[in-house]
Amino acid sequence: SVPAAEAPANAPAASGRSIPAVLGADLEVPVKGGRLVGYANLDYAASAPCLEPVSAAVAAALPAYSSVHRGAGYASQLTTARYEQARHTVRAFVGARPDDAVIFTRNTTDATNLLAGCLPEGTTTVVFDTEHHASLLPWPASVRLAAPAFPGEAVRAADEALAAIDGPKLLVVTAASNVTGELWPIAALAHIAHRHGARILVDAAQLVPHRRLNLTALGLDYVAFSGHKLYAPFGAGVLVGRRDWLAEGEPYLKGGGAVRSVGETAEWHDDPEPRHEAGTPNVLGAIALAAACDALSATGWTELVREEERLIARLRSGLASVEGVRELSLWGDDHPRVGIVSFTVAGYSAREVAEVLSSEYGIGVRDGKFCAHPFLRHLLGAQDADGGCDDDTTSAIRASIGIGTTQEHVDRLVEALRDLVSR
Ligand code: PLP
Repeated sequence: SVPAAEAPANAPAASGRSIPAVLGADLEVPVKGGRLVGYANLDYAASAPCLEPVSAAVAAALPAYSSVHRGAGYASQLTTARYEQARHTVRAFVGARPDDAVIFTRNTTDATNLLAGCLPEGTTTVVFDTEHHASLLPWPASVRLAAPAFPGEAVRAADEALAAIDGPKLLVVTAASNVTGELWPIAALAHIAHRHGARILVDAAQLVPHRRLNLTALGLDYVAFSGHKLYAPFGAGVLVGRRDWLAEGEPYLKGGGAVRSVGETAEWHDDPEPRHEAGTPNVLGAIALAAACDALSATGWTELVREEERLIARLRSGLASVEGVRELSLWGDDHPRVGIVSFTVAGYSAREVAEVLSSEYGIGVRDGKFCAHPFLRHLLGAQDADGGCDDDTTSAIRASIGIGTTQEHVDRLVEALRDLVSR
């Protein structure tokens, strides 16, 4: 009983309600001419830096770890207690129902693929062209809907598509776009899905670092997200949601931990957690992910959102003041969004802009198509003759912010772009 009584590694942030610090905030990088400048990391939507309380939780778990669930030794029991505590923390963080499964995966992509392998025979998935490839591609049979012109159109299109499908159906939608940051009407979409006897999976990879998510209040069936976008290091994500499909689906990996007994054949566990977590799990990743959940909850969303909105408003108005810079948006300037902005610069390819920002100004942004090829084609209104993606005409630059982003970072980006276009 000693391990269960130990304080979990992922205890709430000691910092109370102050915003925790990120590691690497004082990183300096070389720019042209050999000068060192403070790194302006504006690439949080790809992977966010590690929070200090997350690093502390991992460090606290390192001195005594061992494989979970099957060991009688102290270190194994302690590690098992921490791993299962991490599951509870994630459950609370997303406001899951008490009987929802919480399965640790490698990332969001792993989580959507896991669910895709558990769909009842004959399930049709309905998915918008605006999705990240992780939510667009894994489905055995899907109906693809065009990018909707306004939020109500998304609900109407889903309504019509779901009504036309017989048999099991799943609606898949991203809560916050990884391209424009725009928030999707997930509560209304969940309502529509349920009216047609469908289930809904929400890709929350870009929502959970920025906003509170309450799966129960929103009426969602499944959510998926990644630790590395939530201020934890790489390698752990989660799928949370209804147990029945997951209890019946083919085990995601086949091996130790997922089986109850093995003779001539294997008898798999019915509980989704062991069933889909074969092999030694990424315990430190789960502890880190849960510590990030705790740290954000301990800080409080009001404070986090207020600071993010102040910076993103400054960034957007700064970008709008630079000639030739065009922000991408599906639903217009006033639609609410998280701290992600994509844009193009007239006369320059996205790659040229990103390289100049890095090599001359020490600013890290993303350029390309952000694993959302159909959406980029839609937003930029361009495509190759063969319908593919041409790098210059379907690429954009993305700046994304979070905890650790400063006003100086935002202002530096705007001024660097102003310099660039005036050359
Ligand atoms: N969904 C969205 C909205 C994303 O932004 C990303 C990552 O960019 C993913 C899914 C995939 O996440 P991962 O690469 O961690 O699997």
